[in-house]
Amino acid sequence: MVMGSLNQETEVAVIGSGPGGYVAALRLADLGKDVVLIEERERPGGTCLLEGCIPSKSLISAVELAESAKKAKKLGLTFDGLAFDIDALRQWTEGVVNGLSQGVTVLLKRRGVEVLHGRARFSGPRSLLIDGGATVEFEKCIIATGSNVAALPAGMDPTVWTSADALKLPLVPETLLVVGGGYIGLELGLVYAGLGSRVTVVEFFPRLLAGADHDLADVMIGQITPRLEEVLVESRVTSVEPADGGFRVIIEHEGKTREGSYEKVLAAVGRVPNTSELGLENTGVKMDDKGLILTDGSCMTDDPDIFAIGDVTHGPMLAHKASREGKVAAEVIAGKSSQFDNRSIPAVVFTDPEIAWTGMTEREAEERGRKINVGRFPLAALGRARTLGRTDGLVKVISDPDTGLLLGVGMVGPHVSELIAEGSLALEMGATLEDLMVTIHPHPTLSESLMEAAEVAAGTTVHVGRSR
Ligand code: FAD
Ligand code: NAD
Repeated sequence: MVMGSLNQETEVAVIGSGPGGYVAALRLADLGKDVVLIEERERPGGTCLLEGCIPSKSLISAVELAESAKKAKKLGLTFDGLAFDIDALRQWTEGVVNGLSQGVTVLLKRRGVEVLHGRARFSGPRSLLIDGGATVEFEKCIIATGSNVAALPAGMDPTVWTSADALKLPLVPETLLVVGGGYIGLELGLVYAGLGSRVTVVEFFPRLLAGADHDLADVMIGQITPRLEEVLVESRVTSVEPADGGFRVIIEHEGKTREGSYEKVLAAVGRVPNTSELGLENTGVKMDDKGLILTDGSCMTDDPDIFAIGDVTHGPMLAHKASREGKVAAEVIAGKSSQFDNRSIPAVVFTDPEIAWTGMTEREAEERGRKINVGRFPLAALGRARTLGRTDGLVKVISDPDTGLLLGVGMVGPHVSELIAEGSLALEMGATLEDLMVTIHPHPTLSESLMEAAEVAAGTTVHVGRSR
């Protein structure tokens, strides 16, 4: 990265080089804008690339390959001495991250985006002060500073793992307590369980992945529970103290207090936006009581020259949402009429089986008192699922009972992280059940499940038994 001159002027300053910020910077450069990107880390990519989506999925791929190998006996395939080389796995993951981060560096360089290394803070409504004393005067600014791990209410000893610590794979502990049964708790809990740790998950709500539709989550929970040592729902960790080279933990479960010892503890109780140290009081930008920056459909804040995208704003903290907002903000700044008017933001949890949804969930429909028609297709009835030896799953489509307009899609099963994109496209295109039904899907593939679920909803299925 290049260290900039002491005082600099630019058309657009972008703070943060995650999937929101670097995408915005590249799009701005393509639209002819002079861009300065400020990043406090040594390399670009943000949480997603350096310590989130990418390293977690690399580890998940390795662990799931091993799990598939263990289950391959029914396909006539047996493996002897299946074992992880943790150093090799760590190196491979680091290699994936390094390669992608270098790729982003090259893209930024080729577009002529100037990258300044340091922590940025607003010193005035049109100026930023960077660590080390440099200042950047801008015409427009995009805040893309992302989020950070939320501390455990019971206190956060520095040796408690965050997801970033766990992803570095410093060791495989014999016992791991994961606090939080959401995205990170489940994904990383299963990674460590696959590597050999005895993993306990503590969740505050009565269910793991409480935000997901129950029919989908139940399939996933049924499959992953045997891989975990213990799952404690409706539970709270009230104390985490370092003791005997590990942690002594007090958990409130079913109204009773219990004590346990764990070699490592992973905090996965959510994330908070990086907005508190940005000097926003020197600007017209407004935040809510959670520190999330308020924006409109063009990603503009209450200060018309300052935009905010990604995890610092409302909506799910997901990389693809950050990138889409980055493009919108860049286009609006370049004078184009762009809006974040997407009908759906797909969500995927990379457990095994994977779980994914897009558009309206059944839960949301119920909360809104909206009438819906739901078609569910079990993967057990699908040829390709059987050939894969993976019948654990279902696909459902949610539609308007009067018009057949598609409102949402939910899935659980193998590779649904890939399948869900068809649901998002269908929703963006304003598709109906009929559109899904008359689209010829290749056979035998998992993609047929979406067409089949639409047929179940329309009452025209031939592959699910009906009684006369
Ligand atoms: P970030 O990626 O957080 O980037 C912000 C950048 O700003 C950082 O590089 C930071 O160093 C920099 N910065 C912050 N403050 C300053 C400052 N004052 N000055 C200069 N630079 C600053 N999402 C998915 O969609 N799919 C997944 O599979 C997925 N997996 C995840 C796994 C884990 C373990 C975690 C933690 C998150 C995961 N996420 C996933 C969420 C995803 O990482 C975030 O939603 C995404 O990174 C948000 O992008 P962003 O650009 O808003 O911010
Ligand atoms: P999360 O919101 O997904 O899950 C946190 C869980 O912790 C919730 O189930 C919550 O009920 C529980 N919880 C909160 N306080 C608790 C307490 N005191 N004791 C026990 N449980 C408690 O948050 P996360 O798992 O930390 O992930 C943060 C965000 O990162 C996610 O919301 C998601 O946006 C993003 N992410 C996405 C992916 C993906 O797209 N596959 C993967 C990882 C992270």
